[in-house]
Amino acid sequence: MTTTIPAWLRWANRHAVDLLFPSRCLSCGIDLPSKTGSPADRRDEVDFCAACTNELVTSGGSQVATNVCRRCAAPIPTLPGVDCPHCMRKTLWFDQALALGPYEKRLRKLVLRMKQDRTETMALALGKLLCQRLKWHRVTKEGEADLGCPLDDSACLVMPIPMHPWRRVARGTNAPSVLAQVIGRHFSLSVLSRALSVSRNSSPQKGLSRHSRFQNVRGGMILKAGYPIEAAKVLLVDDILTTGATCSEAARVLKLAGADHVTAVVIARTTG
Ligand SMILES: [Zn+2]
Ligand SMILES: [Zn+2]
Repeated sequence: MTTTIPAWLRWANRHAVDLLFPSRCLSCGIDLPSKTGSPADRRDEVDFCAACTNELVTSGGSQVATNVCRRCAAPIPTLPGVDCPHCMRKTLWFDQALALGPYEKRLRKLVLRMKQDRTETMALALGKLLCQRLKWHRVTKEGEADLGCPLDDSACLVMPIPMHPWRRVARGTNAPSVLAQVIGRHFSLSVLSRALSVSRNSSPQKGLSRHSRFQNVRGGMILKAGYPIEAAKVLLVDDILTTGATCSEAARVLKLAGADHVTAVVIARTTG
């Protein structure tokens, strides 16, 4: 007896696989070479073609050069002796920041898609690229010192910037949480997704001045009881870093609770 699989089930099955293992570059849409190996192997493969990957990772790779501030991940003048104008004399509670790249061109389009993508395919894909970026830090001594958080150290924790529940419902996705999960899984680090929480729903940061952004988020986050982070090194994960106000407020909460070192890890750093 032959069993006919309904067309709708074949369609659903094909698209479920496409969501998990996209067969086309998520940026330019060209066909990707067919992926082989077990699902566990395939899940770490990047979902962009070689050209797009190169462009995305290379722009992030510029952070290891002298024209990106290691403290706040902003592009800075390459003149010797010139401090970063973005974080100079500013109080930022995180120790340093690392971005896949500047919030412009192709990466900006992908981040905007990620924020709307309820399937979380784009967050998973950009998370994997971010892991490629972080790997550089693991394989070089200089990079590891830069990161301040050895990725094979069990004292290194991964924590996403929390999102207010209402905002999460409205958006239908929580990219920082997905990115944190991808990083934690890739490097076998503990992910504390619920340790930080929003204590009040701050106004959206968009449109506020730099000073107002810091005021707006002040006191807006708490570390829940039962999460000892004494002497921990934390990778604090968010999608975009603009003034650094949100990451700084989270880092302040973590530092006051005893965290030793906080690195803000983001997909994109605004350049304005
Ligand atoms: Zn492509
Ligand atoms: Zn800076």
